[in-house]
Amino acid sequence: MQVSDGEGLDAVPDCLFCKIVAGDIPAEIVSTTEYTVAFRDINPQAPTHVLVIPRLHAPDVASLALASPEAAAALLVETRRIAMGEGHDSYRLVFNTGADAGQTVFHAHGHVLAGRGLDWPPG
Ligand code: ADP
Repeated sequence: MQVSDGEGLDAVPDCLFCKIVAGDIPAEIVSTTEYTVAFRDINPQAPTHVLVIPRLHAPDVASLALASPEAAAALLVETRRIAMGEGHDSYRLVFNTGADAGQTVFHAHGHVLAGRGLDWPPG
């Protein structure tokens, strides 16, 4: 597997989530780390619905993992820390990948969903 240190994942001017990372667009920030920013989803689908995004711009989570395994791992660890911090031992972690899967913002983000029963299979 080809890996790198995240080179080439610079901020993209028109990217909504790059603007949130930069602080140019307001968001209800839940946590920040060296690698990640987490904030409440503007259209929550569960009592806890937090988006965890890398500071680096990658279009999806697999691209992030290829370019910076450290950032991808940090993002995954942070999802659990956030869920537990909100009082949830169980949570669903969703990475919609590609338009047909419902991805609308092409900056990698994990949805942390918790606080209600979650059906399977998802819609
Ligand atoms: P979908 O829109 O189908 O959920 P994504 O998986 O790409 O697709 O998720 C993008 C998420 O970003 C959505 O849940 C949406 O509500 C959220 N969102 C969009 N703009 C903002 C914003 N300014 N602040 C917080 N969340 C946002």
